[in-house]
Amino acid sequence: MNLTFEGSGMTSMRTRRRLVSRLRDEGIADESVLDAILNVPRHIFVDEALASRAYDNIALPIGMRQTISQPFIVALMTQAMVAEPTPSRVLEIGTGCGYQTAVLASLVTHVYTVERIEVLLTRARRRLCALGVDNVSYRHGDGSAGWPECEPFDGVLVTAAPPRVPERLARQLVMGGRLVIPVGDSGRQRLKVFTRTVSGLSEDTIADVSFVPMLRGMG
Ligand code: SAH
Repeated sequence: MNLTFEGSGMTSMRTRRRLVSRLRDEGIADESVLDAILNVPRHIFVDEALASRAYDNIALPIGMRQTISQPFIVALMTQAMVAEPTPSRVLEIGTGCGYQTAVLASLVTHVYTVERIEVLLTRARRRLCALGVDNVSYRHGDGSAGWPECEPFDGVLVTAAPPRVPERLARQLVMGGRLVIPVGDSGRQRLKVFTRTVSGLSEDTIADVSFVPMLRGMG
């Protein structure tokens, strides 16, 4: 991916470096992830009126009552996803504005992304194409079913929270593959990393988080 950047003021490279150094201070240690955050222009993914806040470490609205995740959470989830053994094919559920998709796409071979709200998917696809990101496949649908035609995946990253882990997603992982997912009822979710092993799923909790709920059906 070749993301050239000519922003100024609040969207300048200096503003982005400040965000990256803050993420490093908060414990993001994977330099490849920090590089990806530095190089993906987050202000392109939010409304022009909010562009000046794009490099603050906050969640922002992206329309249709959805939000772009806080950069720290994007970095934390990405770091968990790309840890050794580095995945090559990753399924993402909840494309939203496409920002997390762009960060992931700069680190893995191919991203398969599913979004239930068609207008968000269309906008995300347009933005990513404009940025020259060409290693992403898009699907409009209910991501709780995963993407059976393209399984198995080395990793699955979910950016909307179901009350419980959807079994079907875990079944689409290769052996040793990882599922990074917020789980729980609204307001009190845990960000979890599941690894598929021969004897089932092993589980780690890495943060307390607040995500929009994973909904059934199409929007
Ligand atoms: N990673 C996104 C975060 C978007 S918020 C970003 O960087 O912008 C979560 C997204 O998950 C929303 O766009 C919501 O519409 C979507 N979503 C919720 N339930 C879903 C489901 N069952 N299947 C696919 N997408 C879903």
